[in-house]
Amino acid sequence: MLLEQTLKKNIQKIDENIQTACELSNRDVESVQLICVSKSVDNDSTKQVVDQGITHLAENRMEKLLEKKEFFKDNPTINWHFIGNLQRRKVKLIINEIDYFHALDNVKLASEIDKRAEKKIKCFIQVNVSGEESKQGVTPDALEEFIDSLSVFENIVIVGLMTMAPYDANSEELHHIFSELNRLKKVSEDKNLAYAPCHELSMGMSRDYCVAISEGATFVRVGSSFFDEEEKEVGNS
Ligand SMILES: *Cc1c(COP(=O)(O)O)cnc(C)c1O
Repeated sequence: MLLEQTLKKNIQKIDENIQTACELSNRDVESVQLICVSKSVDNDSTKQVVDQGITHLAENRMEKLLEKKEFFKDNPTINWHFIGNLQRRKVKLIINEIDYFHALDNVKLASEIDKRAEKKIKCFIQVNVSGEESKQGVTPDALEEFIDSLSVFENIVIVGLMTMAPYDANSEELHHIFSELNRLKKVSEDKNLAYAPCHELSMGMSRDYCVAISEGATFVRVGSSFFDEEEKEVGNS
């Protein structure tokens, strides 16, 4: 199938799934922002996504994000999300080029971001809720102290929390992980910190974004479901 047709069909399906998940949990569909994770496709394919009306794009490699941003330099409507591991020495090259950074998890990185930022940088703190060793992120136990330690950085705004569920998590585990991130978010939100309003939840990928929405996700990061040719079942459970 032509990519254009695949995208049309897939985006329609994703929109329907988001709508259903919102209805089932009594949420306004406007409260969920869909991000297309375009890391697996080239500039031209990404342009086809944008041509379908998608305005939020995410990349996990600095070089690729910069290359795409250059490619789209005449399109100011795109919101750029960086969802990958960011090495400190690369911060200065990218931090002023993005709208959101989803993977803040240590003070040294925060310090470098603060130093290089030319504007306030919207960051999500990545939390390793599942405790998987391979995953980045602060542990839930360390979160409060970590947020406290960010108060000195004038150029960092903590807009919310982000997590990734294990690849093989079952429905019950997914609900647990996402509801736990929501609980942690509320604890931080309730502190009313000017530098950490913490209203947002970045959680949910192709296989689990419906569960994430049912547990309060406000940003879902969907990649393969945009581009896969075959149907994939996304349980609304
Ligand atoms: C790749 C990636 C996604 C999207 O994953 P899919 O399973 O392709 O939807 C979401 N979040 C992060 C952090 C990623 O690296």
